[in-house]
Amino acid sequence: MQPIVNQLGALTNDEIHRYGRHLIMPELGMDGQRRLKASSILLVGTGGLGSPLALYLAAAGVGRLGLVDYDIVEETNLQRQIIHGVSSIGKSKIESAAQRILDINPNVQIDKYEVPLTSENALEILEPYDVIIDGTDNFPTRYLVNDACVRLGKPNVYGSILRFEGQLSVFYAKEGPCYRCMFPEPPPPGLVPSCAEGGVLGVLPGTIGTMQATEAIKLITGIGDPMIGRMLLYDALEVSFTTIKVRKNPTCPVCGIPADQVELIDYEQFCGVPAHDHSPAAVAVNGLQNGADLPIPQITALELKQRLDSGEDLFVLDVRNPEEWEIVSLESTTARIPKPRLMLAAQEVQAGRIKLADTPLAEIPRDREIIVYCRSGARSSDVINTLRDLGYDPHKLVNMAGGILGWARNVDRSMPVY
Ligand SMILES: [Zn+2]
Repeated sequence: MQPIVNQLGALTNDEIHRYGRHLIMPELGMDGQRRLKASSILLVGTGGLGSPLALYLAAAGVGRLGLVDYDIVEETNLQRQIIHGVSSIGKSKIESAAQRILDINPNVQIDKYEVPLTSENALEILEPYDVIIDGTDNFPTRYLVNDACVRLGKPNVYGSILRFEGQLSVFYAKEGPCYRCMFPEPPPPGLVPSCAEGGVLGVLPGTIGTMQATEAIKLITGIGDPMIGRMLLYDALEVSFTTIKVRKNPTCPVCGIPADQVELIDYEQFCGVPAHDHSPAAVAVNGLQNGADLPIPQITALELKQRLDSGEDLFVLDVRNPEEWEIVSLESTTARIPKPRLMLAAQEVQAGRIKLADTPLAEIPRDREIIVYCRSGARSSDVINTLRDLGYDPHKLVNMAGGILGWARNVDRSMPVY
């Protein structure tokens, strides 16, 4: 493919010295390095995938990096978000990443967008960049980045990770399919867990993020065969790399129409999930989906503790996964049904393939107040919506706000948090 960057940046003698290992490869050479210098890349997210992306792209000599993130660095990030360190805990991720990038390569120009990427600001933020790289792990942002890239005619270097598996592709509607050609509709809310729910091997974003960086460099310099029209599936446990073909869908609702007619929509509503774990929309979206206009009743950890202490007989349902039970649990737990098991059972019941009485759902009584909890309160909200769909009384289903983390924060500070 032709290089997508046609300007050639000027290299100083210091830069020529720095990039010597690139310059001696004929495929890249002075020409490729000067294209990198003239290039601009937007990284959506400076977390798991964004960390190796920013580190390697800065080191490789990309002239300008845009960073989009509004999160702050937390201790739980450090298991995989290697651009951040202990000294950055509590600082903004953008500031933390920018500091590290400039330490690696002071020649990089950094643009900071410390805001959530939304349908309102996406076109303006993406427009100035040659390549867009999606380093987020949620469906609303993934569809938003895809649609905005199609609209603007930009390549979208896509990566995703979960547990021990990763995916990589380049969606570039001018030359091949877009993300929507492959996934026209988002998965049902709650079916695909996020990394916060399902976990992720800390090394995995390193593997996929560095491959995304490689694809970006290839697009900019025109070397090799980019992953357009193909998707790589990586399984770390099997050590298998499988490449599948992705075809352009001529009736794709996004890249099948003229680019200037692509409209950005409300992606949180489209996907039925919030764009971010900490999004204030989390509660609102959860409350609105499945046609239920009633907000989900909430109970705080402290209120629950008081009610339990006063001898109330409450049904306390833990919907976390077995690995999490082993880390820490509430003593007052009445039943445990992991969310994936519960959702699968609900699907089968709704499809009429199995009777509710023959599933783990039979454990949940209909005549008692049910307190549902998970780690942070997000999965338990999803579960409550599903139980409502199955005809459980919405007034009897109560979400423990803040999950077991709230309990650790407000009731028992000696508990471990994860
Ligand atoms: Zn498409």
